[in-house]
Formats: sequence, C-alpha cells, structure tokens
Amino acid sequence: MTRDPRYDILFEPVKIGPVTAPNRFYQVPHCNGMGYRYPSSMAEMRRIKAEGGWGVVNTEEMEVSHMSELSPIPEARLWDDQDMPILQKMVDGVHAHGALAGAELAHLGGGASNHYSREIPVGPSARPVDLLDPIHVRPMDKTDIKALRKMHVDAALRCKKVGFDIIYLYCGHSMTTFTQFLSRQHNERGDEYGGSLENRARLLREVLSDVRDAVGDRSAVAIRMGLLLEERANGPVCNEEGRDVIHMMSDLVDLWDMQVGDWPFDSSTSRFEPQGYQDSHLAFVKQATGKPVVGVGRYTSPDAMVSLVKNGVIDLIGAARPSIADPFLPNKISEGRIEDIRECIGCNMCVTGDFLATPLRCTQNPTMGEEWRRGWHPERIPPAKAVESVLVVGGGPSGLEAARALGQRGYQVTLAEAEAETGGRVAVESRLPGLAEWGRVADYRQYQISQMANVAVYCQSRLTAEQVLEFEADHVVIATGSKWSASGKGRSNPHGIPTAPDAQVLTPDDISAGAIPRGPVIVFDDDYYYIGGLMAEKLRLEGHEVTYVTPAADVSHWTHNTMEQGRIQSRLIDLGVNIVPLHNLLAITGDMAELACIYSDKRQSLPCGAAVLVTMRDAIDDLFTDLSAMAQAPKSLTRIGDCLAPGTIAAATYSGHRFARELGEPIPDGVPFRRELPALADD
Ligand code: ADP
Ligand code: SF4
Repeated sequence: MTRDPRYDILFEPVKIGPVTAPNRFYQVPHCNGMGYRYPSSMAEMRRIKAEGGWGVVNTEEMEVSHMSELSPIPEARLWDDQDMPILQKMVDGVHAHGALAGAELAHLGGGASNHYSREIPVGPSARPVDLLDPIHVRPMDKTDIKALRKMHVDAALRCKKVGFDIIYLYCGHSMTTFTQFLSRQHNERGDEYGGSLENRARLLREVLSDVRDAVGDRSAVAIRMGLLLEERANGPVCNEEGRDVIHMMSDLVDLWDMQVGDWPFDSSTSRFEPQGYQDSHLAFVKQATGKPVVGVGRYTSPDAMVSLVKNGVIDLIGAARPSIADPFLPNKISEGRIEDIRECIGCNMCVTGDFLATPLRCTQNPTMGEEWRRGWHPERIPPAKAVESVLVVGGGPSGLEAARALGQRGYQVTLAEAEAETGGRVAVESRLPGLAEWGRVADYRQYQISQMANVAVYCQSRLTAEQVLEFEADHVVIATGSKWSASGKGRSNPHGIPTAPDAQVLTPDDISAGAIPRGPVIVFDDDYYYIGGLMAEKLRLEGHEVTYVTPAADVSHWTHNTMEQGRIQSRLIDLGVNIVPLHNLLAITGDMAELACIYSDKRQSLPCGAAVLVTMRDAIDDLFTDLSAMAQAPKSLTRIGDCLAPGTIAAATYSGHRFARELGEPIPDGVPFRRELPALADD
C-alpha cells in the first residue's frame, strides 16, 4: 500500500536549531514507571517508537540532581556520570532508526519530596511541598541558584556526550522549579528573582542561556512550557503571562513543546475531553515565536494532524498516549495503512504506571512495557509451530485479542460470541456517558480479524460444553467474561448485604441493559474504579434522585491513578448527586438503606427506592467448569480474561495476547520474563 499524498506534509523534515527531525511525529516526554529502575525496558520501549516511525523520541522527565528526586516513582536520572550508560542505550536505539533523541532535564522544586536522597527540597519560597508529605521547601539563596545553574549545565553536557539531539528544560505543569519561580502563587521573593515577570523569569532565562552556551552548537535547546489556565465566564483561557514568557525567551529556544493546564488536564481522559482539546489554547503560540511548536491532544487521526499543520497551529504532532497505544502509528500512515492504527482510547491506564511505580500498561497495546522483558514486539509475533485449530468462546476484549493474535500467528481460529456483536464489556461500557472512545478496543480488533482468512467469527452463538466438544478444535479458550454480583459481596461486606425481598436491587449490568430504578437511588461503590461514579452520573442525567455511597474517602477513589478523580467528583457535585463517603451499606430494607460510618459505626438511614450495587464481579466460568469435568478433552482448555479473574480491560487484552503468544511455545520454569536487578556495589 502507498501513502495518501494528503499526508505527505506529515513526513516533511523539520529543522530544530542545529538538528533536523526526519518527520513531524514527535513523541513528547512521558513517564513510564521504568526510568532508572528498569533501564533496559525503558530503552527498548523508546527504540521501538523510533522503529515505528516517530521522528523524535524523548525521555521522560530526567532528574538533574539527587537534590530534586521523585522517589519512589522511577523517573529518568542524570545525577552524575553513573547514569550515562542507561541513557546511551536509549539514544543508540533511537538513532539506529534515524530518529532524534531528546532529553528533558527536570528540577522539581516543591514538586519533589526527596524521600530517597533526604535532601531538603528547594524552591523560590518557603512552603510545604506540593505532594501531601510533611516536608517543607527551603527558599533558594544565591548559592542554591548558582548550584542549580551548574546542575543544568553539567546535565546538558552529559546529554551532549551521550548524543542527545534535543535538550529540554522542563517548565511545565505546576511542579517544576522554573514554573514555580514564574508563578505569582509560589514566588514571594523580594530579590531580583521575584516580583515582576521579568524577575520571576530571570532564573529560566539564565539557565536557558547557560545550557545554550554549553551545548547549543550541536543540540537543539527546547523548553517544555506549561500554559496555566484561568477560569473565565466563557470557559478557561490561558494566563496572559504565559504568552509574555514565550516572547521573552524566544531568542534562546529552538523549539517550544507546549502543555496546557496542569497534568490532569494536559493528559485528560476521553471521558472529559475529545481529541484536540488543547488546540484552541495553542493557536496563538506560533504567532508569538518563529520557532517550531509541538502540541499534544491525543491525536490519532492523520486528517486532524494535517489540518493542524496546514492551519499553522503546530509544526510537530506531539504524542505520548497515541505513541503508547500504537508505537507504529507514523509508519502505518506512511504505508497507507490507516485502518491498522491502534487508536488510544484515552483511558489513562498508562498513567497509573507512574503512580504505582511499575512499568506502564496500555489497554490497547498489550505489548507496552513487555518489549524488553518478554521480547514482545507490538507488530510482530513468531508464527505458530504447527497449524492447529483454536476455538475461542467469548468475543470481549480478551477473546478478541486472543483471536486476533492467534490469527496473526497462523492458527485456524473460530471465535464464537453469544451476543449479536462482539466487544463484550467494551460494547456495553462504551455506551455509558463519556466512554464512546473505549469502543476502539473492539473496533481495532474486529477490523484486524475481518482481514484474516484464517479467523472466522460467529455471533449469536452461545455455546454449551457439548457444542464446544462437537467442534473438535485442538485448543479451546474460554473468554466468557464476568458479571456484576447482586449480592453486595465485596471488600466491605464479605458475606453480602442483607436485602428485604421487596427491595429493588440492581447491578451495573441491569442498568446498562435498561432497567429503570424506582424512587430515590442509592449507588453503593465498593469497587472504587469508574463504574460506580458512572452509574451515579448516568442515573442522575436520566433524572433520578441519586445518592452515591462509598466506604472510600472520595468518589471513584482508584481514579486518582488515572488523574480523573477530581473531575469525576466535581461532575457528580455539579449534577446534584448526593455524596456520602466513608460509609458502608449495611442493609437494604423495602424503602430504606442503612449506612454505617467506617470509623465510628455511627448509623444513618436514607430513603432508598432502588439500590445499585457496585461491589464485585463474578467470573462466568460455568462453561469452563463443565468442560473440565468431561472425559473427552481438547489438547488444551484455558480460561482467559475476566472469566479467569475479573479485572481491568487492560488486563483482559493482555491475558488474550499472552495466551496467543504462549500457545505451542515452551513455558520457562520460574519467572517468565527477564528481570532487571540492582547490582551490588564494588565495596
Ligand atoms: P473479557 O473482558 O474477559 O473479554 P467480557 O465480559 O468483555 O470479558 O466478554 C465476554 C464475552 O463472552 C461476552 O461478549 C459474552 O457475550 C460472551 N459469552 C459468554 N458466555 C458465552 C458462551 N457460552 N458462548 C459464547 N459467548 C459467550
Ligand atoms: Fe491510551 Fe489508555 Fe493506552 Fe494510555 S492506556 S495509551 S490512554 S489506550
């Protein structure tokens, strides 16, 4: 296939100071939960992005000193020469594919607590650190400022030595020292580094100029610049000072990588913002600078990318999440394979890797984070050793991914799905408010499968154990999913919730299937991820009086890890949902719900016409159990996805993919992946 000439503009080289990007596809710095702790994993993940056609591949934020470090979150480090081999590995991998490598130097002021180094964080003014740690920032004196300038020069020189083509200063979000010096809220200094904007910008200007002097002959000097938003009557607008800073620094900067708002807005999920949600805020930047501009906005559509470039909004298509979901997105556009793009769904499962300090996971791309330790490539899988037949029962994310990947390996695959369409839980959940893009999990796989002659899909085919055996497949995979429990059983009520016989008790499955609750509704969320909050939102939007009860401290508590929690809670408050945190649901009588405070056991009763219980899901594994009990057996019978153990959609696609990769392959004894172990010091 050949490239559509409309997209040629995306493959034009772009000059960035002394270097030239081979195309406009720009992987912006993004955290990955690997950093210094899993360096080979990090380097291989970045290399694969370059292989997939990204013209520029950047590090995540890279700590320039032990004086400002984010432990326990594993970011990149460049504290001294000892960190250079790790970065060298990344740079060499990126260069091997003709891409440019970029390094984002980070000093985090009050954004870092220094748990590991135990150094006192420094920043413009005295105040507690931004993280909720009992630690204060010490205001920087002139010696500290001198030291900070030197740290950046030293780090930049090390970057130049390992061959980075672009060297950044991180001045984004609200958590960096430069942002905090610029901010009126953070900077209360009375010296030449505080007060007027010119003074507050002085440190940034000095460091930019130092770094430029040190490395600007060979490396481009870039800035990751955050535009803070201010609420106005017609919606948020960019803070005027952001514009002034661009004017003030333009002579020192070869490239502007723009961010809008704080990290939760900058990385908004699709539940809250559509593709291109930052465009309107960025429109002015190119008028303010003659230098190339990068912007992000979860862009996966090449048409949208072309129009951004043609309309002069940005020069380089910045992407973190689209490059995670599909490291080969640029090559697919180049090769005229638009339909093969695995589009990001905007769920932020990848972001959880940072908060949980583990290598990032992706709902759409099950190979993400597994490139080095398992040797999984996002586009290639070794072919099957024998042409055998596989029956996959259930066409949700796990069954679809298993069928797709098995088909790719050359197996003869049949996928049987009980419903009229495949998709399983994503088909259902993508109809909930804000989750339409989640349907891409099924879309991508359905299309791939439709192109494979060796994969047949039969919908409206609810199979029994006898029918499965009649099929005589060599291998049978059970991917029959899970359903929400109506018993109330879960973390807070291990034996379920006592319920009067006349009470209306519903589950999220019932609500999704169209059940209408009667009277005031209590949504009880003992699950803590997105479904409880979404049930409250949906029912309130449909006009019901809704009370959301949870034993957690806040709504949809686990979504702190996807950076959605604040927006979910605000949305429910705006909609008029009554929120009762820190309470368990003890019992449901005919028309009342009895609650107990989780700390004091103090009781209260609330009117309850219907209760929606979001507590746990039960695996639908009866088909597996029936088949396991039969004498006649296929070569292999395996459960995958939610049928094995209910979990996230990311866990389901991973489970299906893993099964497909491992079928017919020797399973190693012990730990099934390569490990990166800390080395003993010499003495
Ligand atoms: P997962 O997340 O593990 O993929 P889902 O719940 O999303 O699980 O999908 C399970 C799918 O299996 C659903 O689409 C459901 O209709 C289908 N299914 C369940 N039981 C059967 C069966 N006996 N035969 C065929 N399909 C089934
Ligand atoms: Fe996109 Fe979700 Fe994958 Fe992150 S985890 S890249 S948001 S699909």
